[in-house]
Amino acid sequence: MKSITIAESLVNGDRLNQSIASLASIGQLPNGGVKRIAYSKEDLEARKLIQRWMMELEMEITIDTAGNIIGKYAGNNPIASAIATGSHIDTVPCGGHYDGAYGVFAGLEVVRVLKENQIQLDRPIEVIVFTDEEGSMIGSKAISGRVVGDPEYYRRPDGTDIQTCLATIGGNWNKIDLARRNPQDISAFVELHVEQGPVLESMSKQIGVVEGIVGQRRFNITVKGSANHAGTTPMSMRCDALVAASQVVLAVNQIGNTPGQQVATVGKMEVLPNAANVVPGWVEMSLDIRDLSSLHIDSLLKQLRIHLEEIAVATNTQIRLNPCLHNEPALAEPYIQKAIASCCEELDLSYTYLPSRASHDAQEMAEICDMGMIFVPSTLGVSHDATEYTSPEQCTQGANILLQTLIRLGKI
Ligand SMILES: [Zn+2]
Repeated sequence: MKSITIAESLVNGDRLNQSIASLASIGQLPNGGVKRIAYSKEDLEARKLIQRWMMELEMEITIDTAGNIIGKYAGNNPIASAIATGSHIDTVPCGGHYDGAYGVFAGLEVVRVLKENQIQLDRPIEVIVFTDEEGSMIGSKAISGRVVGDPEYYRRPDGTDIQTCLATIGGNWNKIDLARRNPQDISAFVELHVEQGPVLESMSKQIGVVEGIVGQRRFNITVKGSANHAGTTPMSMRCDALVAASQVVLAVNQIGNTPGQQVATVGKMEVLPNAANVVPGWVEMSLDIRDLSSLHIDSLLKQLRIHLEEIAVATNTQIRLNPCLHNEPALAEPYIQKAIASCCEELDLSYTYLPSRASHDAQEMAEICDMGMIFVPSTLGVSHDATEYTSPEQCTQGANILLQTLIRLGKI
């Protein structure tokens, strides 16, 4: 590999930001947001555009059986495992311009810079566009080999089956196992993404070095009291499920506010019979708790259970915690975090370490290879909304860090 000068190792910010803007025009909503749901006609159009750009870069393009688009830029060593990057181009029903798309275009921009400077790394670079990140994450789950076997699990909200969906984008449900990658294929995966939260902006940092993607547990909490007449039942003789539930909400909030980086939320609640003149007899609510350490989540839950028992006794109710989701944390490799941090130092960009509290395809990639993530600030911490914004300068800075990091990881 010829040695790379600083000028050669910077991305073309205008070109990168133009490409983000041109993708945002596919599925553009009147309010400035973007609707590009996986498998929709907008998604298909966007996928075509990406493939055209990959072709212009003379990348070797594969559509795997999960519909992931994989563009490969050759390396000097034909037997070396690849360095992979990428993200997704599908959006939520009213998404912004940057979530996902940014990571894909930054990956393509990295390849453009290398190609126009006639540079090949030792390792090939793969830019992966993962299928349906916002819905099922079936693309990255197929690569990690963790697809659920029952196709019904993947039926779309509009009733369409997964077989049809995958066929539309060049995939094949019956052969989805073939999308699984061997750990020997890819040595590391680095995803560049907007933070989708307020931390970087509030700390005035330009780059986030992601420590990992938090583990997430979700529970359904039920509180059983007894419904009775709101007029005739004296206060001292009530088993008010909502009074107990209110204390549960406070207990969850208190657990979330103990020292640490965890978050804990009750986001959903149902009250029965939900009538103005009846003492509530039954409450069901959600609990969502996330942290980078599974052990820490365990210990918080242990504390919470003790609280719940006390509340149940004090309110004369029965409180149960029923698990419904358990995702283990996916930690970023320390050597990749270090590489990202030292690239920030070299390019004189301020940075901080932080966890990702949102899910990303990177968490699935961590199952088969070393993983790292780079964040850039999200204005006001907003994402999954038309007002999602990261400035062109910030996008360029993040892409430069991606380029530098991949150059480092691409050396053998
Ligand atoms: Zn995303």
